[in-house]
Amino acid sequence: MAASFASGFALSARTVTEFFAASVARNPAAVAVVSGETELTYAELAERSDRLAGHLRQHGVRPESRVAVLLPRSVDYVVAVLAVVKAGGVYVPVDPEYPPERRRYLLADARPVVVLDALPATEDRPEPPPAGGHPLGAAYIMYTSGSTGTPKGVEVTHADIVALTQDPCFAQGHERVLLHSPQVFDASTYELWVPLLRGGTVVVAPPGRLDTERLARTVAEHGVTALWLTAGLFSVMAEHHAEALAGVRQLWTGGDVVSPQAVRRVREAHPDLTVVNGYGPTETTTFAARHPVTGDVGAVVPIGAAMDAMRLYVLDERLRLVPPGVTGELYIAGTGVARGYLDQPALTAERFVADPYMPGERMYRSGDLVRRNADGALEFLGRADDQVKLRGFRIEPAEVEAVLRGHPGITQAVVLARGDRLVAYVVGETEGVREALAQRLPDYLVPSAVVPVEAIPLTANGKVDRAALPDPAAPTGGRAPRTPQEEALCEVFAEVLGVHRVGIDESFFDLGGHSLLATRLISRIRAVLGVELPIRALFQSPTVAGLAGQLQLDVQEDTLGVLLPLRPHGTRPPLFCVHPAGGLSWPYGALLQHLDPDVPLYGLQARGLAGDEEPAASVADMVEDYLAQLRAVQPHGPYHLLGWSFGAVVAHALAERLQELGERTDLLVVIDAVPAKPLPEEAREQIAALEMSKVYLGMLEAFHIDTDGIDEAGLTHEEFLRILSAENTAFATMDERIAEAAMRILQNNVAIGALHRHGRVATDLLIFTATDNGEYVIDPEVWSPYIEGRILHHRVTSSHHALMQPESLRQLGPALAAELRSHHTHHIHSTHRED
Ligand code: ADP
Repeated sequence: MAASFASGFALSARTVTEFFAASVARNPAAVAVVSGETELTYAELAERSDRLAGHLRQHGVRPESRVAVLLPRSVDYVVAVLAVVKAGGVYVPVDPEYPPERRRYLLADARPVVVLDALPATEDRPEPPPAGGHPLGAAYIMYTSGSTGTPKGVEVTHADIVALTQDPCFAQGHERVLLHSPQVFDASTYELWVPLLRGGTVVVAPPGRLDTERLARTVAEHGVTALWLTAGLFSVMAEHHAEALAGVRQLWTGGDVVSPQAVRRVREAHPDLTVVNGYGPTETTTFAARHPVTGDVGAVVPIGAAMDAMRLYVLDERLRLVPPGVTGELYIAGTGVARGYLDQPALTAERFVADPYMPGERMYRSGDLVRRNADGALEFLGRADDQVKLRGFRIEPAEVEAVLRGHPGITQAVVLARGDRLVAYVVGETEGVREALAQRLPDYLVPSAVVPVEAIPLTANGKVDRAALPDPAAPTGGRAPRTPQEEALCEVFAEVLGVHRVGIDESFFDLGGHSLLATRLISRIRAVLGVELPIRALFQSPTVAGLAGQLQLDVQEDTLGVLLPLRPHGTRPPLFCVHPAGGLSWPYGALLQHLDPDVPLYGLQARGLAGDEEPAASVADMVEDYLAQLRAVQPHGPYHLLGWSFGAVVAHALAERLQELGERTDLLVVIDAVPAKPLPEEAREQIAALEMSKVYLGMLEAFHIDTDGIDEAGLTHEEFLRILSAENTAFATMDERIAEAAMRILQNNVAIGALHRHGRVATDLLIFTATDNGEYVIDPEVWSPYIEGRILHHRVTSSHHALMQPESLRQLGPALAAELRSHHTHHIHSTHRED
């Protein structure tokens, strides 16, 4: 079959019906479809679909007649779709959950001969239908968001489906394929027809929207061997349910930019599973390009090369081929390019244009910007227009804008994606607008916030000035987070909602969160704080303060203790972070966003922060104190330790002491620090007269506060506290008492640090150095007398104090996470060897 494939001729001469009949003839007793306890063999499915096809013929279904299918995902759905095609008709999936107005629109546009919302209970056997369809006849219509204000129906032919399913890339692993994507999206084309036209089994997932847990269970219980997951879903599965993929041979993902880290995780967990990045618009029958990932995963997962029946061109605006490496727009040609948009000749002519490189053929203008990399694979770079993808849904903001402008009282509207949300800005009356939209549009097209504005701001060249549009949730002056965990929660809320900041008393739902976003929020909380939260908890208390309470993260006393449990859960060895000179380890909370969710994170903080204890008399004393805390959490090595600034001196001393006790430290992470050394006389004087304004400035930066525009000369103690309290960070709640304790600790640490002498420790060292420290750039070699192991060095574009701020962490975080990962695997392997 593959041999005749290259020309595309043999395939385009056959129908879906013929290919299905071949599957039946090959193995009538094989299971064609399974759903829970129900199973149909190929013979049974053929028989049932024949019967229904006859029935449809009796109701007037002829070639090109459309049949709307409003059934939930089920065995009946599979029977219905197959029957429509066998009767020669065209199936049009319509989501039974769509609002009535949307359903009416789709039915009016598709003008179906029959609407199937239940299967007829016929016992009679009508005439067997003719084996239906023509290779170039339409087989289905799927609607996508339309920039003209209404959705457009993409007409796909038998030949298109056949070409997709017979691509050699499905030759492996497609014995049991999961049907779980909404039937109204074209991923279901792959899920349904690849197994049925190749003799595999369709595993029907339970109907309705599945959460990832159910999905994982279905995959494992039914022994699914191949499935499709949109990029977002894939990341969640990779992070939380990788174990459920043990039996999967091929995992197709895409529909949006695929995370390399998620691919890496899945491949590490299951070396025998092939991850394939699948790319393609609905207009080219699910996949136009694919990239099976082999070897190392780089920073970008390419979309790869054309499906065998297709050709891909990267063109400039004059339709000339651009050289490799140069960005151009992707045009797609070959079998699989749909017939066009139903009853929309103008729109069809605009996107389906003549192929200048193959006379007589057409190509589809994708609107996607791509480039060919050094290996010849294509990389996706973004869109040439305003179309967006949100959680896998393709959205034309213009469609939503058109509906908004049709609303009485609204004169102008702009819709755009912010974070994971769709936000509408309107001039006019906003009362009741969201409700009105929800009556007309499917969920994913309803903006989660409708923000009134005086006028739509424009840039000098007349485009909408996105930056000048207000944040949908402007700060309400709500309370700031009180602990590092609340701070982490606020960041997760803001990230998921696409807003700058969130107070701890603001409700997730008031800020535009909806149930789909809620799932994502829960999954991010699990990743960042390592705690499992039922979605119900969010409905009960939808604020940061409320959730922190449920998670028992609200004990402020604990946040001044020596052991600061930033993420006390996870299966891998914890990372212990020793405080910088100021004694607080709260800034390390920002690492949570970057480290793998199964790595527990602890801070070690100076004694005396709560004000009623004496600070340590020497580094050795400090080490004994921290050692007890550390071993209570992790009794034996290998340990992973980290220290920033003064913290590095202590972390090294801790590793040295552990070595004396016969325990190994696998990795010591030093963040911009030098080993302790004796202070010259003049430095001692300098410490005594420490310029407090400099210390305050450094502390502000260390506490994640942007210090641009702060006047150092005027930075008094009062001003320092005022700035802290005005910021939306956990440090805002730091009162006079804690600030003074931190100052005392800082001076003490500088003094005792100078008296410490390092020995030599057998460990690997990972050192990050800040490049923006003026003349004071640290040379990693200063550590080599004290390290017996590898020294790995990374530079970070940052100042010393700003190293825990988001900009710097974007550089430092992934490198640290990767090193922890490789030390972990290394350790597992070396244990095996020692066995
Ligand atoms: P699908 O159901 O395959 O996602 P849609 O028609 O809904 O198809 O969306 C197609 C658009 O989605 C493409 O034009 C492109 O912008 C984006 N897209 C699809 N697959 C990928 C991918 N693997 N990587 C990046 N973007 C993708």
